[in-house]
Amino acid sequence: MARRKLVYEGKAKILYEGPEPGTLVQYFKDDATAGNGEKKDVIDGKGVLNNRLSEFFMTGLAGVGVPTHFIKRLNMREQLIRQVEIIPLEVIVRNVAAGSMSKRLGIEEGTPLPRPIIEFCYKDDKLGDPLVAEEHIIAFGWASQQDLDDIVALALRVNDFMSGCMMAVGIKLVDFKIEIGRVWDNDFQRLILADEISPDSCRLWDIETGKKLDKDVFRRDLGSLADAYTEVARRLGVLPANSGPVTRPTLIN
Ligand code: 5GP
Repeated sequence: MARRKLVYEGKAKILYEGPEPGTLVQYFKDDATAGNGEKKDVIDGKGVLNNRLSEFFMTGLAGVGVPTHFIKRLNMREQLIRQVEIIPLEVIVRNVAAGSMSKRLGIEEGTPLPRPIIEFCYKDDKLGDPLVAEEHIIAFGWASQQDLDDIVALALRVNDFMSGCMMAVGIKLVDFKIEIGRVWDNDFQRLILADEISPDSCRLWDIETGKKLDKDVFRRDLGSLADAYTEVARRLGVLPANSGPVTRPTLIN
């Protein structure tokens, strides 16, 4: 039997060669890591939930005109995506102070920000994904000024869509991280949303209780990560409201 070619293995996902040139298969693992790989565990069902949630957000974003790499979900753990040249930046959008920004600037977690704040980190595990300025990005050629203008516009559109989606189900979108890819359509280059959008890469707080429903549950040992992600999926209608045990999620097709 022919074996498919592994293109890249990251901490939470694997990329395989796709069935056609310019496509890849993105496989969602159950592995959870935090602190740049220092804390590790396997969370039964996480990959299945993130595959389905990322499909849900990417499809919704495409519906409002945001270009994404997502083509279609193939099965419980895999989706077909467009191959892109990843821009080596983590683009973070914050609506409420939390995490590294709270630590860095001494702003109490939960403080609402006067406007969405966009930060860029240079994607490099060995360096711990350091925060960088637009000056670094342009000087080192990671992206042009035009790219940055397009990335900011795209990130704010993602924020508007995701905030609304979450607000509708009683969840506050505190912050999130996205990655952007470059694609060529004939002679024209475009930037599109890549990687994933899931509770692994967002901070999601219940509006009423403040309960965390994202990867901070794992990072800070606050309980069951699978339960938190299942709760998000249920509220968004990705899982039936009365589905059974969280370790074996029942997905709605
Ligand atoms: P912070 O900079 O406060 O640690 O993270 C800000 C937001 O970006 C959080 O929602 C966090 O989950 C996300 N984020 C930052 N770095 C990473 C990363 O390397 N991987 C993932 N999945 N999310 C990240």
